[in-house]
Amino acid sequence: MKKALWKWMMVIALMVGVQTSGLMMVHAAPGDVENEWFWNKDRNPERPDDFPEQQGGPEYTERVRQPVSNIILQQRYPETVVLRGALTDNRVALTFDDGPDPRFTGQVLDILNQYNVPATFFVMGSRAEAYPDLVRRMQQEGHIVGNHTYWHPNLVEQADIATLEREVAQTEEALANILGYRTSLFRAPYGFLYNELVEKLAEMNYTVVGWNVDSLDWRELGADDTAANVLSNMEPGSIILMHDGGEWDADRTSTIESLHQIIPQLQAQGFEFVTVPDLLNIPYQK
Ligand SMILES: [Zn+2]
Repeated sequence: MKKALWKWMMVIALMVGVQTSGLMMVHAAPGDVENEWFWNKDRNPERPDDFPEQQGGPEYTERVRQPVSNIILQQRYPETVVLRGALTDNRVALTFDDGPDPRFTGQVLDILNQYNVPATFFVMGSRAEAYPDLVRRMQQEGHIVGNHTYWHPNLVEQADIATLEREVAQTEEALANILGYRTSLFRAPYGFLYNELVEKLAEMNYTVVGWNVDSLDWRELGADDTAANVLSNMEPGSIILMHDGGEWDADRTSTIESLHQIIPQLQAQGFEFVTVPDLLNIPYQK
């Protein structure tokens, strides 16, 4: 009896000891673990479980590292890579990336409807599968839908050609199931590509669509700044980059509100809004 009691006391002492040393280890660390946890918690009290995230991270953190390479790629592969239309053309094309996003895409479509303006949407395959009704709405309302990979990886840092092929084919399939045709328009996440990836996309019969006017809307600096980024850099034949979707903590309010400045002001200057395939006179399906 005494022996059994002694044994139990030893077990309890051991458990307390383990727990105490565990606690001490947490507190002995410079608070990294706890701070990180609290920071994330504060930042996102309602992180959704079912929202397909961008595998390569938010626009901001990736884009600040972007090398300026699209112009060189366009010169190397003029048949495959397009960045803008002709300077002699008074037409321009609005493009929206990273949707469909149930928080913002509907609002963007409402505004485009209001001004009767067509646009080109480069959607993530995972989000198209999650929100097919928004993709159908794009199509029904006269917009063009292109391929922006399935999970939005940083293709230069993380991916190889096999990954590109899988990401593009998976998205092409997802979109074909919704749209009823195979898109031939591709835009790379963050605009990141290199020679071999462009060559693979050409082999897959894609046109790689870049841009020459960046709204920088992912910085979320407000509608005035976003509109100014577009309006002050506008040229005839421009392809304008904006975002109707983002990470779970992204806010596209600036983008949405800026359209009320961008569209009427450019129309007043005599610009006509068209889709990317219209602007460049290229096919949008295979
Ligand atoms: Zn993107």
